[in-house]
Amino acid sequence: MGKGIIIAIDGFSSTGKSTIAKLLANKYNYIYVDTGAMYRAVTLFAKKNNFVGEDFLDEEKLVLNLKNISLSFKFNKDLGFAEMYLNNVNVEKKIRTLEISQLVSKVSTISKVRSKLVAEQQLMGKNSGIVMDGRDIGTVVFPNADLKLFMTASADKRARRRYKELIDRGDIVDYKDILFNVEERDRIDSTREDSPLIRAEDAIEFDNSDMGIKEQFERICTLIDRII
Ligand code: C5P
Repeated sequence: MGKGIIIAIDGFSSTGKSTIAKLLANKYNYIYVDTGAMYRAVTLFAKKNNFVGEDFLDEEKLVLNLKNISLSFKFNKDLGFAEMYLNNVNVEKKIRTLEISQLVSKVSTISKVRSKLVAEQQLMGKNSGIVMDGRDIGTVVFPNADLKLFMTASADKRARRRYKELIDRGDIVDYKDILFNVEERDRIDSTREDSPLIRAEDAIEFDNSDMGIKEQFERICTLIDRII
């Protein structure tokens, strides 16, 4: 076996990217990086400091304060994946709320935020054997990734999945709000000027509206086993 490859997984919100990425990382013993968690952690910081809210974004203040944001992942053996830390505090739960989901795409349009996070992501990929998921991994972070996947699914299927996740963890949410959020994030993510969400030309597309995780995972493993 070679030294490990770079697998880039991009796609729309709640298409099961992280589920697949975690399974792949476990099977191949690779590092998994959830870049969405990094944008969410920056958003949590911005919200706590009142740089962003439902109807405002103080881009200048957030950019001035980027130097005070330190992001890291720490592996949690019980959960089997790395949790997100913001300035050494575990924020894994706090970044997954609907409130953060409603602000994150706005914060993610800021070029200086993106360049900071992209630089950190590229460093993490220096030692190959990595699965990274996000919106711009195959296009911007690792344009030379060994395997690029692009995930899609119908908005309704995606909203249902996200709704179930939030309900299962005890959040009180309305399905309509989740569907709106999923569609709104896709709209902002796909139309922003800097690194919009688009399928890289050489990415393999998976529409998993009606495809189970197991089938998807097996198909992707076949693709990987052809490369390594
Ligand atoms: O993957 P997740 O849904 O947690 O991502 C949250 C948000 O972070 C996305 O909707 C997008 O606005 C932003 N994001 C991004 N680029 C990435 C990963 C996430 O802009 N590589």
